[in-house]
Amino acid sequence: MLKISQIKKHFQNGEETVTALDDVSLTIRENEFVAIMGSSGSGKSTLMNVLGCLDTPTSGQYLLNNQDVATLSDSALSRIRNEHIGFIFQTFHLLPKLSVVGNVQLPLRYSNVSVDEADRRASELIERVGLSHRKHHKPFEMSGGQRQRVAIARALINQPSVILADEPTGNLDSKTSIEIMSLLTELHQAGQTIVMVTHEDDIASFAQRVIRMKDGKVLTNHEA
Ligand code: ADP
Ligand code: MG
Repeated sequence: MLKISQIKKHFQNGEETVTALDDVSLTIRENEFVAIMGSSGSGKSTLMNVLGCLDTPTSGQYLLNNQDVATLSDSALSRIRNEHIGFIFQTFHLLPKLSVVGNVQLPLRYSNVSVDEADRRASELIERVGLSHRKHHKPFEMSGGQRQRVAIARALINQPSVILADEPTGNLDSKTSIEIMSLLTELHQAGQTIVMVTHEDDIASFAQRVIRMKDGKVLTNHEA
């Protein structure tokens, strides 16, 4: 479970202070599929960065599985991030020199998982995202939809508490977008908690609940 309470995030732009998150409180329950919507600059990515332990709030509390993570050091945060969070990005963020297997196993590099276990998990996930026939290909040899499938398998390799997806279909055509959303829906139905940013209503409609943001505040927060 993710619970943030009265989070504020300020950025200093020279003389000017930008309030990217202005007193945001919300709870994401286990096995929820939540979409975050709002116009550009409304604070969606800043919120995802806080939820993903990529950034700390200026003030407020963040409980991740009942642990207070709002005030942890960078090294403690990166450990939490590696253990608990799977990330999916609009532009996939795959390493071009690594194969599908190499990319999927990347988050295990700093863990205690054995080579055999890493191979077993990667094979299982690559099959789950439908890419068994592409295991040894490099990202440049694959379509956008296939690359996002690799990123999804990578996000799952540490069995994360939550998947955070920032515009996961932003670089995909509408047919491929639906395929990727169907895959995320399958993962959700199998128990995965997912938080996704999107600006498209038809993509948000795959989620159970839509959180709307404006000017760093949560506007509406209800079941779809
Ligand atoms: P969204 O993802 O909804 O487009 P962001 O969270 O990226 O919005 O940005 C919210 C506000 O915070 C914007 O006004 C943006 O300019 C500002 N902002 C975000 N990140 C930074 C940063 N690193 N430094 C300064 N201002 C930032
Ligand atoms: Mg953004």
